[in-house]
Amino acid sequence: MNMKQNELPRYTISEHAFSEIPGIISSFGSRAALITGEKAFAACGEKLLEALKGLEITTHQIYGREASAENIDRLKNIEEIQNADVIIAAGGGKCLDTAKVTGDQLGKPVFTVPTIASTCAAVTKIAILHYENGAFREIYRLKRAPVHCFIDPSVITGAPAEYFWAGMGDTMAKHVECLFSYRNDDPDFEGEYGKTVSVLCYEPVIRYGKEAYEDVRDHRVSSSVIRIIESIIIATGTVSLSVAPDCNSALAHALYYGMTVREWMEYQHLHGEIVSYGTLVQLMLDHQTEELKRVYEFNLSVGLPVCLKDLDLEREDPLEDVIHAAAINQELDHIPYPITEEMIRQAIEDLEDYRP
Ligand SMILES: [Zn+2]
Repeated sequence: MNMKQNELPRYTISEHAFSEIPGIISSFGSRAALITGEKAFAACGEKLLEALKGLEITTHQIYGREASAENIDRLKNIEEIQNADVIIAAGGGKCLDTAKVTGDQLGKPVFTVPTIASTCAAVTKIAILHYENGAFREIYRLKRAPVHCFIDPSVITGAPAEYFWAGMGDTMAKHVECLFSYRNDDPDFEGEYGKTVSVLCYEPVIRYGKEAYEDVRDHRVSSSVIRIIESIIIATGTVSLSVAPDCNSALAHALYYGMTVREWMEYQHLHGEIVSYGTLVQLMLDHQTEELKRVYEFNLSVGLPVCLKDLDLEREDPLEDVIHAAAINQELDHIPYPITEEMIRQAIEDLEDYRP
């Protein structure tokens, strides 16, 4: 039998979450290296440093601009990071991924402080690495997941609301895609666990997402905001840590990768925003009329995309390059039936004409 070891997310969410850091990391030591994003530190550095007073901060480093091998190498060679007992990383997904890999390569436990709710990077065992020019490089698999994640919702509501908005789109896709990928399978305990938890990436967003997004735009922490942060970071992270790697995503993400063939796309639209359009295409293609209606109406209610125009694409555009890249994307390696380019084109057309 293969050994199974699931490191499910541990987290603290509260406006006083930072004050819990010293106590929780104390069993690992008291010397901490701090790696942050520039904007993240400007936003919450003062509050964070105040909470970390009891610890010895060996150094504070800005990670750079990209989750790149160059930045990881630079950080790895800093003596004050090598001498620390733990790494505390505060920032967005790229900062957290950079610090996670740095800690992995130095054999140091990593604690995360996500400052936006856009991805589940704060709790997962993978890091998305890029080249210095921003192009995707690889998915790096860590030996250990971050030990504990500290979320201060007032920091998240202080950040630009568009990250939260796009994060909801990416999170909902998790449920739709992993159920689709697993449809013909008989998953083991972990797979079933991930599938079951994926409901929490979906139902709370449909129910509380609009209200939460309004609260984030008004910089107000509310119970809806906390529910959605937990969906975006914790539920999605749990699914990612539990389901088989080839069942994490399907057409919504494959179409996202297809869209990025048009290089301007990623400059004009956020990852989760593009993915949320792909979710609708997948539901259309798969004839899931009821769920299609729910997601479509949700997207409309918060301004997530429902048609090509919302992504600055024309209906007349044949999208051959986009659809071809999507159809051959590895996210479609494990799906219940083959998806052809014609099927994707048809689903996109049908979505253009769709009215719930
Ligand atoms: Zn995604």
